[in-house]
Order: sequence, then C-alpha cells, then structure tokens
Amino acid sequence: MKKHNFSAGPCILPQSVFKESSQAILDFNHSGLSILEISHRSKDFVAVMEEAQHLALELLRLEDKGYKALFLQGGASTQFLMAAYNLLEKKAAYLNTGTWSSKAIKEAKLFGEVEEVASSKDKNFNYIPKNYNIPADADYLHCTSNNTIFGTQIKEFPSVNIPLVCDMSSDIFSRELDFSKFDLIYAGAQKNMGPAGTTLVVVKEDILGKVSRQIPSMLDYQVHIGKDSMFNTPPVFAVYTSMLTLRWIKEKGGIAGIQKLNEEKAALMYGEIDRNPLFEGFAALEDRSIMNATFNLKDEKLKDLFEDLAKAAHINGINGHRSVGGYRASMYNALPKESVEVLVNVMKELETQA
Ligand SMILES: *Cc1c(COP(=O)(O)O)cnc(C)c1O
Repeated sequence: MKKHNFSAGPCILPQSVFKESSQAILDFNHSGLSILEISHRSKDFVAVMEEAQHLALELLRLEDKGYKALFLQGGASTQFLMAAYNLLEKKAAYLNTGTWSSKAIKEAKLFGEVEEVASSKDKNFNYIPKNYNIPADADYLHCTSNNTIFGTQIKEFPSVNIPLVCDMSSDIFSRELDFSKFDLIYAGAQKNMGPAGTTLVVVKEDILGKVSRQIPSMLDYQVHIGKDSMFNTPPVFAVYTSMLTLRWIKEKGGIAGIQKLNEEKAALMYGEIDRNPLFEGFAALEDRSIMNATFNLKDEKLKDLFEDLAKAAHINGINGHRSVGGYRASMYNALPKESVEVLVNVMKELETQA
C-alpha cells in the first residue's frame, strides 16, 4: 500500500516519474542498455542533460537572460562554501533564518568577513526578519527562501543593488517569483525536484570571475559552465530523474500551475491547524511556508494516540525536526492534495477521540 509521504527530504516525487525512471534502469530509450551503464558522453545522455538544463531555465523564465543551469554534486551544503569561494572577495551579507542559513554563514566565514544583516534566532527562527539594512559594499546578499526545518518562507525578497544569492532547496519550482532578481540560485534536488545526488545551480554569468583567489576546478562555477555540467562524470540517474520531474512540472502548467495546487494544500493544512483546538502552529502567520507546515500538539499526552491514528492512515514522515519538535507536514510539489485531506481527517479524528 502506497503511503502518504510527508517526508521533508528526500521526499515524494510524482508516481509517473518513479515508474519512468525505474523503467530506464532496465532499458533506457529502448536502447537495450540501462541508464546506469551508458556513457555520460553518449548522445542519449547528453540529450538528457541538455533537456534538464533547458527545462530548468524555461520554468524559471530565465532563458536568454545570461544565466546558466548546472547540475552539480555535493548537495546544497557544498554550495554554502562554493558560493563564497566564487563570490566573496572581502565582505558578504547574510540573512540568518534558520539552521541552513547558519550553516551557510559558517562556511562563508572561511573566505572573508560576514555581516549577519538580521537573524530570527531570538525566537527559535519562527519568523522572517524584515526591515534590516544591507551594506552597499557587500559582495552579495545570501538568503534562504524556505526554512525547511522551521516552516517559514520569505514572501518578499529584499531589493538590493548587490548580487542576490538564494538557497531555494526546499521551495524551488513551487511558486512564481521574479527569478531574474536573483544572481545565484541553488537547490539540492531531493526536496522538490528529484532524488538525492544532484544540486541545481542557476547562475548569472556576469557575476563570476571577480574574486582574486584561485579556485579549485571542482568548486569553480566557470569550469562547470565551460563544460556544460560535464567537467567530470555527472550523477546521471539523479539528473535523469530530475529532468523527468521538470517535464512533469511543465505538463502541470509550469510553476504557476503547481503553485495553485500548493496553495490549496497549504490552505487546507493550516486551516485545520488553526481550527483544531488540540493543535497550534509554530511559525508566525505571515511567514508560514506553503511547503513545510510545522505544528505542535498542545497536550503532549495525546502524542501516542495521534501518532497511532496517523500510522493507521498510512501517513509517513510527519515528525518534526529535533530542533523544533512536534510535527512537520512537508507538502512538496508531488504530494497529492488527497494526502493532506487524509492528514486533516486524522487531526479531526483525534479531536473526536480525545
Ligand atoms: C536540506 C537543505 C539543505 C542541505 O542540503 P544537502 O543537499 O543535504 O546538502 C540546505 N538548505 C536547505 C534550505 C535545505 O532544506
């Protein structure tokens, strides 16, 4: 029996993508070969990489605007240092909205001065800071669009005259934004785009080549751009499966189509969190994420009953991160609305039984 998977990452992908990618493991494009055994330089795989890069830029509406899409390895965590390696000459500005931002800051400090422009640490990151000053002499501003662990999301991005760098790991392709405001976007695939193993990097080429330090080849965006993400063996299966998901997003009406569904799911989920007297939401109302809803039981004594009901309803992955506790329902693009309905019904059932 297929479960309702609210896992925060790796996460649910479209069922059609699971089917098609498993077929490609057995026989890719009727070639008599598995996708896992063909050369990454073969015509068939080069076509996959090109389509993935093309679809990423098309969906973000960044075609012909000086951007390149790369599929790299090392996860978003490698981007924490790679962004700084390539862009930080003297000083960078960072907005600290949670665990992932804090980790990005730690890595950037290895390369230069870091000015934390604002932080929501004072309230265990349950909100997004607003109205802060951004130093005009910083090499870039780094932010995290969606805070996977705390369930907050930036709704309005700061307007800046310096390059804007954003970790979009957990909400890429989930909502419309003016992506041309950003100069560097990165996202580990496993939250909303594909399996673990690849990281999408979308970079505006004209911000590169400005730091004076030498950059090791594997960490140099320009090297990867020069080789079209084929400097070394790319993670072929992760790229292929991500490409299938990007095709699926396009079929669903692109990001705008997906956003509509995501907003419906989030409205359903938060509606119940707010209505049900047994629960309370964690994140500040205006900063709530449409991807990860964090909430708690007001009465810890109901924990076992709630979790038993959830288990009986085939719900998976709702335990909150250890730094927040409680529950987290991750409602990524591929999660059907029906799964949210099942969870909401479990919450209602708890109210009846409690
Ligand atoms: C999960 C996550 C990361 C870390 O990604 P890895 O690919 O595991 O390195 C970074 N940033 C955000 C916002 C995340 O959700």
